[in-house]
Amino acid sequence: MFENLSERLSGVFDRLTKQGALSEDDVKTALREVRVALLEADVSLPVAREFVKAVQDKATGQAVTKSITPGQQVVKIVHDELVHVLQGEGDPGKLKIDNAPAPILMVGLQGSGKTTTTAKLAKRLKDREGKRVLMASLDVNRPAAMEQLQILGVQIGVDTLPIVKGETPVQIARRAKTQASLGGYDVYMLDTAGRLHIDQELIQQAADVRDVVNPRETLLVVDGLTGQVAVEVAEEFDDKIGVSGVVLTRMDGDGRGGAALSMRAVTGKPIRFVGLGEKMDAIETFEPERIAGRILGMGDIVALVEKAQATIEAEQAERMMKRFAKGQFNMNDMREQLDQMLRMGGMEGVMGMLPGMGKMAKQVQEAGFDDSAIRHQIAMIQSMTKRERANPQILQASRKKRIAAGSGMEVSDLNKLLKMHRQMADMMKKMGKMGKGGMLKQAMK
Ligand code: GDP
Repeated sequence: MFENLSERLSGVFDRLTKQGALSEDDVKTALREVRVALLEADVSLPVAREFVKAVQDKATGQAVTKSITPGQQVVKIVHDELVHVLQGEGDPGKLKIDNAPAPILMVGLQGSGKTTTTAKLAKRLKDREGKRVLMASLDVNRPAAMEQLQILGVQIGVDTLPIVKGETPVQIARRAKTQASLGGYDVYMLDTAGRLHIDQELIQQAADVRDVVNPRETLLVVDGLTGQVAVEVAEEFDDKIGVSGVVLTRMDGDGRGGAALSMRAVTGKPIRFVGLGEKMDAIETFEPERIAGRILGMGDIVALVEKAQATIEAEQAERMMKRFAKGQFNMNDMREQLDQMLRMGGMEGVMGMLPGMGKMAKQVQEAGFDDSAIRHQIAMIQSMTKRERANPQILQASRKKRIAAGSGMEVSDLNKLLKMHRQMADMMKKMGKMGKGGMLKQAMK
């Protein structure tokens, strides 16, 4: 899947990954090629433009993590942006099927894989959720299509509505609805007629059926290999009938995967499933991470960057632990802890994360210790000299006055800070020792 795009990007990033530092020009050059690659993968021009711009904004000025190259960092940013664009809300695989019998309308062009997908989803609902499903084909112009669904039904052990010659699609839909209610089915799936091209009659037929059954889900099935055409089809169907999600088929082929990206960006409709073959199990929930990884073909680099970042954090934590165990917790360390608290969403955020801290969080709040208090404390630490920060015990009256004045605080505030520092130093010493004993280390693993 997505070979073209991934190969293209590999070429771009191979060059980048060999460079030591990344200038703004380098980023631009790389992203120009990303844009061309996206266009070649059939991503529409406005989507490609917007995508590249978003990446450019994020890449420029971003600190490069040590131990990976700037090129690898750019790959990660491109990857994250792909995921961001592809991501819908909620769980794409969760079909709305409450209030039995729940109608699901399947729409799309002929040959898109609509009938196959209907059966695949029915099987999935049966196997995974234990649902009783009834399928019905509304393709009155193509008896072969009706028979195809019946054959698939037998194959997967899902009931199909008996075929009655001479009925209109709306009549079949009504019969399916009645049968689903009487027969105690959880879901009934309506496989609407397809045409080779969108035409007024096709749309009208689907709209009439929609008005009769009021579907909980209207899934548009599109051939992932058709690229830009698929996007136009999606826009048209959504405009005229309203779809709740898209199923991209033939994603097992080596097609131009840009359809996924454009589809999402242009229609705003979530991609719910991808078809990955002709077999009845060859369907998967749409996973942006996975598709983005495949588009880039560089999942390993993304993992590497994540690991590098995590490793650096872990190394820092371990170094600190060692120092704390020796009772070395100075004002610089305190400053770092306070910064971290702010980053993690302030006092409330930190306390909220710790089990059993709810009560303490309240006390802390009542004592007036909030984010602005943290900022004041940081200001006081900033007013200290380097020596004072390293050895806060040298702080005598005159130094305290100077620091308080320098940070616009009172000496009493500074005393509170120093008291808190001593308490934290004590606590850190204990925690550091625990860390040595392995307890914290175990917990961190
Ligand atoms: P419909 O006309 O839209 O109902 O299309 P069909 O369901 O009859 O599918 C047309 C052809 O595409 C059949 O041969 C299917 O087996 C095949 N097909 C459907 N989905 C996929 C898929 O995800 N991957 C592949 N490789 N083939 C598929």
